[in-house]
Amino acid sequence: SIVVTGATGHLGRHVVEQLLEKVPAEQITAVVRNAEKAADFADRGVKIALADYSAPASFDGLFAAGDKVLLISGSEVGNDRVGQHTAVIDAAKAAGVALLAYTSAPGTLTAALADDHRGTEKALLASGLPYTLLRNGWYNENFTENLAPVLEHGAVVQAAGDGRISSASRADFAAAAVAVLTGEGHENQTYELGGDDAWSFAEYAAEIGRQTGKEIPYSAVSVEVYTGILTGAGLPEAFAAILAGVDASIEKGELVVTSGDLARLTGRPATPISESIAVALKG
Ligand code: NDP
Repeated sequence: SIVVTGATGHLGRHVVEQLLEKVPAEQITAVVRNAEKAADFADRGVKIALADYSAPASFDGLFAAGDKVLLISGSEVGNDRVGQHTAVIDAAKAAGVALLAYTSAPGTLTAALADDHRGTEKALLASGLPYTLLRNGWYNENFTENLAPVLEHGAVVQAAGDGRISSASRADFAAAAVAVLTGEGHENQTYELGGDDAWSFAEYAAEIGRQTGKEIPYSAVSVEVYTGILTGAGLPEAFAAILAGVDASIEKGELVVTSGDLARLTGRPATPISESIAVALKG
């Protein structure tokens, strides 16, 4: 089977949808922690397995020898994600799966957010399992699904200076994962995945301006000011610090990906940020 964890998340849904276009539904297992959220998959013949990264025993017997597994990194930042992911890796090892692919972060990323990914990569390599590291760059949607404040204030406010970023859409990263899960020869490979053209926030603001017919400047602020804006908008301090840390990484160029791995795996150009902006504006 092809087994996808985090299947009811944004990325996981894209992966399962794209798998359904390539393989029979009964060959796909969606690992979820809430069966109701996966009812539509079950209706279409996808097998559903219930498990929680925080409950290692819930993965007992879930995997079978020869499975190809996509471990989608969890979203509970601060809740020992390395431990959570290691529980999945241990169960996959015990079962003797053929491949474990993990959605990681770019190898160049030093922001705090990268620590859980580096820790998980280490555990995966130590397991001796055949692995694929899908080092996903940033999603276009991280930005385009948060256009409301940009449109409200008529400005893009970030703390990334004139740094550039090669983001791509979630559907693109899902397509890369599906290529690995359904293709051959991806064992023990590390892919640095990102969009084809890096963009700056000045260009991003200009593109939103072009598509809305408004004047939208980019206001580059310091990490401290940006953190204050985020907490002022109601974000918890720790999360605001994480986001501001990512901007600092963008300024340093740590989210620029030049490998070409994404387009090579998917066989098509990545989705430009302008296209994701257009999708978001159509709402
Ligand atoms: P989502 O938050 O939409 O999905 C996270 C998925 O992980 C959900 O399916 C969620 O289950 C599942 N999950 C979280 N905690 C557990 C747990 N304890 N046990 C089992 N399942 C769990 O994120 P995306 O799909 O958009 O992105 C996938 C992952 O990529 C994120 O979890 C995060 O690690 C990372 N990420 C990457 C970004 C990027 O730009 N590259 C941006 C944001 C996140 P449920 O559906 O039940 O909630």
